[in-house]
Amino acid sequence: MSAALTTDPTRQRARRLDRWPAIWLRDNCRCTDCRDPRNGQKLFGITDLPARPEIVGVTLADDERDGPVAIVEFAPPHRGSYPLSWLDAVESTPVDDGRTENGKALWAAGDLDGRLPSAGWQDHRDRPAERLRVLDAVRSLGFALLRDVPTRPGTVLDVAATFGFVRTTNYGDLFDVRVQAQPNNLAFTSSRITPHTDNPYRDPVPTIQLLHCLENAAVGGDSGLVDGFHAAALLRAEHPEAFAVLTRTPVPFRFADADTVLLAERPMIDVDPLGRIREVRFNNRSIQPMVLPAEELVAFYDAYRTFAELIDRPELRLDLRLEPGDCLVFDNVRLLHARTAYAESGARHLQGCYADLDALHSSAAVLRAAVTA
Ligand SMILES: [Zn+2]
Repeated sequence: MSAALTTDPTRQRARRLDRWPAIWLRDNCRCTDCRDPRNGQKLFGITDLPARPEIVGVTLADDERDGPVAIVEFAPPHRGSYPLSWLDAVESTPVDDGRTENGKALWAAGDLDGRLPSAGWQDHRDRPAERLRVLDAVRSLGFALLRDVPTRPGTVLDVAATFGFVRTTNYGDLFDVRVQAQPNNLAFTSSRITPHTDNPYRDPVPTIQLLHCLENAAVGGDSGLVDGFHAAALLRAEHPEAFAVLTRTPVPFRFADADTVLLAERPMIDVDPLGRIREVRFNNRSIQPMVLPAEELVAFYDAYRTFAELIDRPELRLDLRLEPGDCLVFDNVRLLHARTAYAESGARHLQGCYADLDALHSSAAVLRAAVTA
């Protein structure tokens, strides 16, 4: 141990090793016997370790690349190695996959104060810092609006490719939202569509949706967005029992036409093991008859109605009208989307596609590293 490393700050950092039990340190050893230095992946399984390793000594060393490193001697014998900078980072930057309500900005329409998270298409496509801002808005607020996207059919796929991968479904790579003669879905009519998430009958459900407006000359056909996490958090605060019912009751969602039969049983409000809201599924069109004891059915319907009334509160709903060239990118397991009815005499044509949040978060992480480098 060099004299420089015996200074108090370094010793204090090393003392924080006490926070971790021996089995945690043994499992997270950074030495090259334990991890492949080329990719950082672990080279052993949990059953390869002693169940109750003991720490028999700790010293400090100096590494050319990593700086001060804690060297831990274990019994049974193993020499563990832990850069203090690595230990500090693990503690100060808790893992967060960005999928729960944790760290997100939940909103009602008034909170946005008319300032939609938006960017021009060319800026988004060509400027990494601008694209990062758009992707961070989707993570935090659940949506972003791109403007001046060329109204050439198929361009919605190019938009998805700027941050991820198109999720092809039975609707194809993309779907056209316009009036069809034989609609297999109410979306393809001119009817009013109440707030909903898409495709709850899939598992995994597509976690991102894009809607690109090519034409909107119809009277009506305005869009609405509701933050489903905000609505669920309000339900938890105002009606905790209803919230509990919706998190623990599997709901069967189904879609079927001549070529497809899709069925998924998932709760309307999905929470993670810590109780944090993680996904919302809300789609009155695809719920199937539920089979439960009568009193549980009554409790479910009460909770479902209470949640629906909350979602319908006018102050929660952001109204906007998509103009040709607008492309909305939104979190389909958080935001509910809606549209007003429209006159079939006016042309209205949107193209949509699905993608996923994991790739969007990945793109944001890579961009952030590049932008801040
Ligand atoms: Zn090791």
